[in-house]
Amino acid sequence: MMLRIMDSHCHLQDAAFDDDRPVVWDRACKAGVGAVVPGYTLATSEAAVAWVRAQEGAWALVGLHPHDARDWQPDHRALLTEWLRQPRVVGIGEIGLDYHYQHSPPEVQQRVFWEQLSLARDLNVPVSVHMREAEEDTWRILREVGHTRGVIHSFTGSWAFAQRVLDLGWYLSFSGIVSFKNAQDLRDIVAKVPPDRILVETDAPYLSPVPWRGQRNEPVRVIRVAEIIAAQKSCHTEEVFSFTMSNTFELFSLPGDRN
Ligand SMILES: [Zn+2]
Repeated sequence: MMLRIMDSHCHLQDAAFDDDRPVVWDRACKAGVGAVVPGYTLATSEAAVAWVRAQEGAWALVGLHPHDARDWQPDHRALLTEWLRQPRVVGIGEIGLDYHYQHSPPEVQQRVFWEQLSLARDLNVPVSVHMREAEEDTWRILREVGHTRGVIHSFTGSWAFAQRVLDLGWYLSFSGIVSFKNAQDLRDIVAKVPPDRILVETDAPYLSPVPWRGQRNEPVRVIRVAEIIAAQKSCHTEEVFSFTMSNTFELFSLPGDRN
């Protein structure tokens, strides 16, 4: 498989792909789209570990999403550590804070985010962080833990928050939200972020870009996200493919010869 661009965050193990996962992945591979597949529950972390094992061009992350933080048990530290020894498992995610839905209480989310982020720091592996309406607490925990290898996925925060995490050495990943009509503020942020800190993603099966908004998303549509980034950067889409792929390989320490 000749990789041209990386979808840095998509959930190919999700049940939404149970009927046609090989077909969806084949479309991605034919277009040169590789994938980083984060877990969000224990079951989907385990499924990601199992699925990437035989897939050239795909790597997995393992972790508990803030929605499911209340499922965290003390022995999950050892479980994540064991999964991180498996082939093609390259980091912890997705983890973080989501105060919009609060499916788990904020104080539980904070504790479980702290646990997983400090585990990543101790093991020196990168993290993929979900942050929604929780900038102050996210920043406080990032600063307290002091881990320098991470990305805020599907970034929708403020420019002030963006600058703080960029100063910490982190990356920002942009999803199909950049194509939404009401997302001009986000496109303005894209224009200001240095190219060597930008990742692109689909967050499939969610967040399909326009003109497929509302449909099930899939990795090949990361190309549409790259087109929007290129428009904001006044550069060729191929350049966005290239710098975002380099950044994804760098952040997740992906092996080898990608050309
Ligand atoms: Zn996600």
